[in-house]
Amino acid sequence: MIEQKEQVEKIREAFNQEFGRFVDLRNKINSLSLSVAENLQREISEFKTKHTGKKSEIANAKKLIGRVAPEERGAFGQFVQTVEKKIVTAIEEAETNLNNYISEAKQERERLDITLPGRRPRVGHLHLLTLLRQQIEDIFVSMGYAIEDDREIETDYYNFDALNIPEGHPARESQDTFYTTDGFALRSQTSTVQIRAMERRGVPLRIIAPGRVIRRDTPDMTHVPMFHQIEGLCIDRGITMAHLKGTVKEWLRRLFGKDTVIRLRPSYFPFTEPSAEFDFSCFKCGGRGVFENERCRPCKGSGWIELGGSGMVHPNVLKACNVDPKVYSGFAFGFGLERMCSLMYELDDIRLMFENDVRFLEQFK
Ligand SMILES: [Zn+2]
Repeated sequence: MIEQKEQVEKIREAFNQEFGRFVDLRNKINSLSLSVAENLQREISEFKTKHTGKKSEIANAKKLIGRVAPEERGAFGQFVQTVEKKIVTAIEEAETNLNNYISEAKQERERLDITLPGRRPRVGHLHLLTLLRQQIEDIFVSMGYAIEDDREIETDYYNFDALNIPEGHPARESQDTFYTTDGFALRSQTSTVQIRAMERRGVPLRIIAPGRVIRRDTPDMTHVPMFHQIEGLCIDRGITMAHLKGTVKEWLRRLFGKDTVIRLRPSYFPFTEPSAEFDFSCFKCGGRGVFENERCRPCKGSGWIELGGSGMVHPNVLKACNVDPKVYSGFAFGFGLERMCSLMYELDDIRLMFENDVRFLEQFK
């Protein structure tokens, strides 16, 4: 039996030697490329046929069992089976590992990569007019003013009569607006809110009223038929022009810096008496009229920027709201937001603000 056993040992050794290249496969399998792994898979399949097939050496070795003495036959048979089992197990294990790896690698290759970064939605921002309006609102709220909103479609009475602009008054022409078929007027000024607020809240009163107004204007670089105004109104006992001047100066200083100065020029508005237009020292050149050795653009070299109209509320307006002008007085002012925006950002054409061109708007974050 010794002779036969040696023969089987030789078969085992020969197998072990040949199989050596697959033994450490388990450790390095994950570093194989798919094509290398597939080649190995073919090789191992051939290897399996060679070492476990019907014509394999171990199959032949089984024939030796008959040549062993009968009393040793059982032990030898077991020995051959053990060797055969080890060979088969070793090959199958390597084969299984390889197959698993290949199917995983294929799955990985075909997998949909959902980790691709998505498209980030573009975040918008407020319109430059809204940003400026909010800035001004914050200043007035901090000075104790309430923000008043009201309708944009008005009756003739609120748009004109109550503001001391009776039928036939020349001021009606410059403030001409659009009318509905029922005779309602699209308000041509936020001053309408003065009347509404006094009627609703009574006096004393401190409000600002930002809002949209309409004029019958042909659009050009400095005119649009729809724009925005901010109206201010302060009514109390003993209010004078000094309060008006102080208030206008204070909010312009908070907006443009503490060195800002203002000036009032006599003017005429039907709803105030006396009336004044107010200018402020240019925020760019500081009132010098020259910026970097060139004529300053926002103030056109004058050093002053004209902003809006103001004055003491006309007694007729107070009377129209059942406020006694002998007891109460007040000031009002108003200005256009678009004009202010186009000055601040040096826009040549006011219409840019309404064209909704994102390339223009996204500059004002
Ligand atoms: Zn200037």
